[in-house]
Amino acid sequence: MTRVFNFSPGPATLPEPVLRQAADEMLDWHGTGMSVMEMSHRGKEFISIHAEAEALLRELLDIPPGYKVLFMQGGAIGENAIVPLNLVGATGKADYVVTGDWSKKSAKEAATYGKVNIAATGEAGKFTAIPKQSDWKLDPGAAYVHICSNETIGGVQYHWTPDTGKVPLVADMSSDILSRPIDVSKYGLIYGGAQKNMGPSGVTVVIVRDDLLGHALPVCPSAFNYKLQAENDSMYNTPPTYAIYILGLVCKYVKERGGMAAMAEHNVAKAKVLYDFLDSSSYFRNSVAKEDRSLMNVPFHLKDPSKDETFLQGAQARGMIQLKGHRSVGGMRASIYNAMPIEGVQALVHFMKEFEKEHG
Ligand code: PMP
Repeated sequence: MTRVFNFSPGPATLPEPVLRQAADEMLDWHGTGMSVMEMSHRGKEFISIHAEAEALLRELLDIPPGYKVLFMQGGAIGENAIVPLNLVGATGKADYVVTGDWSKKSAKEAATYGKVNIAATGEAGKFTAIPKQSDWKLDPGAAYVHICSNETIGGVQYHWTPDTGKVPLVADMSSDILSRPIDVSKYGLIYGGAQKNMGPSGVTVVIVRDDLLGHALPVCPSAFNYKLQAENDSMYNTPPTYAIYILGLVCKYVKERGGMAAMAEHNVAKAKVLYDFLDSSSYFRNSVAKEDRSLMNVPFHLKDPSKDETFLQGAQARGMIQLKGHRSVGGMRASIYNAMPIEGVQALVHFMKEFEKEHG
C-alpha cells in the first residue's frame, strides 16, 4: 500500500494511526460485537465515545467553564445561517469582517436573518491582507462580530485576536481549529466543520458561551437551536456518531503528540519550508501580505499559467495530489493541516525546484 501526500483543502488527510485504529475497530468496537456506526446514540457505549471526544477537545483547546461544546450537523455553511438564527435576535444586527470568500459568504447568508454591517473588507486588495482593526467600523449595538480566522481559499489567517469589547466575537475556525493554541475566553462563539484538522466531514463543532444561549429567533429550526442542543448534550437529534468517534481519535492522537503547542510548532516549521522557497523563487509566487499568511493553506501561482496542468500532472506522478487552486484564485494551493507531515512539504518543494529549473 502506498499513501499519497494529499494536499486537499478538505476533506483532508488524516493521521495514519487514527485510520489504522478505526480499521482495527471497524467490525467490533472494544468487544461489543458491533461497529461504532451501528451503535445507538443513546447506548452507554456511544455516550462514552461522545463524552471522551468532548473531554479531549476541551482539554486540548483549554476551553474554560461557562462554554458549551456542541457536535452538530450542517457544516460551516449551515452555521452561516445557524449563528444568526441563534444570536442576532439579541439586537437585530451583526458586524461582519470580510477577509475572503468564506467570510463574504457568511455575511451574505446572515443578511436573511438580521441587519448586517460590513465592518471591514479586504476585497479591494483581492483579499491578500487582513484589514487592520483600527480601520474596522464596529457597531457597539451589534449582537456579535463575525470573523473567519483562516480563509481556506485565499490563504490569509489572523495571527492576532480582535478586541471587540463587550460585543461577542464569533469565529469560523473551520480550517485552523486545533492547529495552534487559542484563548477561547476571548470569543463568544467558535465553530468549524471537522474535515480539515479534526476528522471527517459530517460533524460541526460549536463552542458557545453560556450567556449567548436563549436568543434564538422563533423561526430557528429546533435541531439548530443551540440552547436545545446544549440541554440535550447535542443529542436532540441523532448526532453524526461515526464522525464524532473519529474526531475523538484525532484528538487523542493530537494530545499524544504534545497538544496545541506542539501542533503550532510543527505547523510553523512546515509552512516556513514552503514560504521560504516561494520567497526565493522567481517562478513561483504567493501574493499574501507576509504578516497575514496562512499556516494552513498556501496558494501560489506559476509564472506561466499555461504550465499549470503540467505541474499538477508532475506532482501527481510523484504521489502529491489535490494541489489545484480554488477556481476563484487560480494557480495552486497546498493545504498543510496538522496531519500533513513535513516530508510532504519537503517533497513538494523539491519538485517545485526541479520544475523551476526545467521551465523557469
Ligand atoms: N468556512 C471555511 C473557512 C471553510 O474552509 C469551509 C469549507 N472549505 C466552509 C466554511 C464550508 O464548510 P462546509 O462545506 O463544511 O459547510
